[in-house]
Amino acid sequence: MIVTGNIDILRKIVSKERKNAKIISFVPTMGALHKGHLSLVKRAKKDADFLVASIFINPLQFGPREDHKRYPRTKKKDQDLLSNEGVDLLFYPQLKVMYDSNFSVFVDELSFSNVLCGKSRPGHFRGVCTVVAKLFNIVNPDIVYFGQKDYQQVQIVKRLVRDLNFPIKIKILPIVREKNGLAMSSRNNYLSKERKKEAACLYEALLLAKRLINDGKRNQLEIIDEMKKVVKYSKNNKIDYIKIVNVDTLKETKKIKGKILIVLAVYVGGIRLIDNIILNVKK
Ligand code: AMP
Repeated sequence: MIVTGNIDILRKIVSKERKNAKIISFVPTMGALHKGHLSLVKRAKKDADFLVASIFINPLQFGPREDHKRYPRTKKKDQDLLSNEGVDLLFYPQLKVMYDSNFSVFVDELSFSNVLCGKSRPGHFRGVCTVVAKLFNIVNPDIVYFGQKDYQQVQIVKRLVRDLNFPIKIKILPIVREKNGLAMSSRNNYLSKERKKEAACLYEALLLAKRLINDGKRNQLEIIDEMKKVVKYSKNNKIDYIKIVNVDTLKETKKIKGKILIVLAVYVGGIRLIDNIILNVKK
């Protein structure tokens, strides 16, 4: 695996691969890799001839009171994991390579960015869109892989690709979970053993909603109330939001019918965790 933080070197390598008419796949990450990330890498490896991954902890997508400084950094382990999965090229840029000191152009998505996580993390998706657009321009991939765990993020990236005409296909892969159902996340590293156990309640609440809907319940307020009870069983948990929305519009849906996203963000011992499931409700 070649590792570089240099944009010119990366571009030369990728364009050489392109000349051989190869399909370039790309998995962007912020590192502290776990099996969720690796599921994307494995799939990307299968689909393409040349696989690029990136690790960049993008400061633009962290709020002033968020965890940018203490975000877990596990460089050596991450490189070994990616190399073992057959990644051909790892882009590992330094901050100053990505953002000039007087950087002044940003990318804003205006339809989906101010609901759900965007409400409690103002500016977050602007940071995501800006770095994703930059990475797409730098790597110039054919297919890019994202996890369903960050469902809102992928919907926004899809808009970015459509509206700014990136010739890129986006693939979304399922959420990889711990044995207790907790969605894998780099932020789980912050949780003590006890909190990790308690954090299983996010998925339990989603499964409860699924069961209630399968049993014929259609009153969304009642379903959300039941979910809240599951999450609030521990005093360490604080709900940011629990919503049932349309999968395409991310708008709250009164009617529980068709493809819906049940999505939540909960602080567990002060650590903000997110999770979701998609249901296709026939009747
Ligand atoms: P991050 O490093 O958190 O920016 O995540 C990089 C990519 O990995 C994003 O597309 C995430 O949605 C995806 N990802 C993170 N956690 C998981 C998971 N548990 N299962 C599947 N994909 C994930």
